[in-house]
Amino acid sequence: MDPVEVAAVPDAGPVPAWQSKCPWGAPNTSAISCSLADVMSEQLAKELQLEEENAAFPEVPAVAEGPFITGENIDTSSDLMLAQMLQMEFDREYDAQLRREEKKINGDSKVSISFENYRKVHPYDSDSSEDEVDWQDTRHDPYRADKPTTTPRKGFIGKGKDITTKHDEVVCGRKNTARMENFAPEFQVGDGIGMDLKLSNQVFNALKQHAYSEERRSARLHEKKEHSTAEKAVDPKTRLLLYKMINSGMLETITGCISTGKESVVFHAYGGSSTTEDKMIPAECAIKVFKTTLNEFKNRDKYIKDDYRFKDRFSKLNPRKVIRMWAEKEMHNLTRMQNAGIPCPQVVILKKHVLVMSFIGQDQVPAPKLKDVTLSSEDMKKAYYQILHMMQQLYKECSLVHADLSEYNMLWHGGKVWLIDVSQSVEPTHPHGLEFLFRDCKNVSQFFQKAGVAEALNERELFNAVSGLRITADNEVDFQAEIEALEKMNEDHVQNHGKKLSMFSSDGDPPIYDE
Ligand code: ADP
Ligand code: MN
Repeated sequence: MDPVEVAAVPDAGPVPAWQSKCPWGAPNTSAISCSLADVMSEQLAKELQLEEENAAFPEVPAVAEGPFITGENIDTSSDLMLAQMLQMEFDREYDAQLRREEKKINGDSKVSISFENYRKVHPYDSDSSEDEVDWQDTRHDPYRADKPTTTPRKGFIGKGKDITTKHDEVVCGRKNTARMENFAPEFQVGDGIGMDLKLSNQVFNALKQHAYSEERRSARLHEKKEHSTAEKAVDPKTRLLLYKMINSGMLETITGCISTGKESVVFHAYGGSSTTEDKMIPAECAIKVFKTTLNEFKNRDKYIKDDYRFKDRFSKLNPRKVIRMWAEKEMHNLTRMQNAGIPCPQVVILKKHVLVMSFIGQDQVPAPKLKDVTLSSEDMKKAYYQILHMMQQLYKECSLVHADLSEYNMLWHGGKVWLIDVSQSVEPTHPHGLEFLFRDCKNVSQFFQKAGVAEALNERELFNAVSGLRITADNEVDFQAEIEALEKMNEDHVQNHGKKLSMFSSDGDPPIYDE
């Protein structure tokens, strides 16, 4: 045996003739064994997907990991992908070699052997066009069976010893071949349909079974692919937007994912050296990508639909544009807050559904949420008073109600509280604005009372302190009813006069309770 080939496969056992001639040397054929049940297992598929997703988007930012997207590695960002592409190329060549060997060995022999099981690329997975039939080379449509001979009702044709029943092997075989047409289009059945190929019932049934399971597997794979892109919100269009930001010098590197929520994915990035509108790009940025899948946004209609700032536009927009409006809303709201001096991310740029803002945190580590941080009782008290003040500023100076305020959307950084996540924030004159405010107050009161801040107002006192309204009800139900009555009064007034009540004046002033 040729010593070179032996060296290529140190301990692969006796090397078959077809393998030793492979110009690449013999590949390592020790495949990882797993049962068919494993492969088909729903649970395994889910686990694999989870693993994949976790690997791609770890919960905590992996500081040591390589960058997610940089200017240099745009199309070859993944070593894994390159390796996989090379492997695929290799497998294809290997299979081609196998096919040649098969042909040579079989020659004109009546008994043929098949190397099918040794192939690397399952024909179903293969996207090579090698197996495809060239239409010009075939005289008739290779995918259409010749009209199958039908057996009359009596169940046989012919006379005497030439009688042919419907169970006749040849007729039956031809019929089976024709029935392969009913398999899923992706299932490659070769061009046997156009030839006089006879499939025994046993073979046909096995094929049919296989075709069905392949069809289901394919559907699952497809679903997984779709699902995962939606899950990460980085569809090709978003990717392109991000690349452009890097190419323009606005961003240096996108290092990784900070958070994947139901409606958005947040990435960390290092700012580039270019400027936007003469503003310096912050050294570290957070990129909030609003998901372009629509289902999660369905139940958020009420925030935007009734917001008079967006009213005229809402009805005319397609759902995709509505998602951009969430990003736009977050930008406007953050700007208002910035102007009022409320600690919050500073807007860098908005591009479609992608909002770039300053990063709250340091060295890729985001500031902890208030719910995750352990504060001394002194800091906790400080945080409470700061939030009370911020809620008042938000209401009076920005004319906004956060509408999703809780310990989840407040970050602790540099010894103070920062407000984030304001895409759903509305003006107090929003038809449900006061209800949203009351809900915010409930969250804040509960959190600080549980945290042991004795000074924390209850939710009703907090509501009055923030809004300047003087609702006197001493229980939640009555309080809620009064809030709704106020909202209704405002709505009726808008209906009748086309203008908001003076207490809900729409030129930015928050409602003042007028007895
Ligand atoms: P969601 O709608 O998904 O809750 P958020 O705006 O709350 O979106 O962002 C999700 C998470 O991403 C936050 O809880 C926070 O940990 C992180 N995050 C968002 N914006 C920033 C930022 N500017 N700086 C640091 N971390 C941020
Ligand atoms: Mn949030």
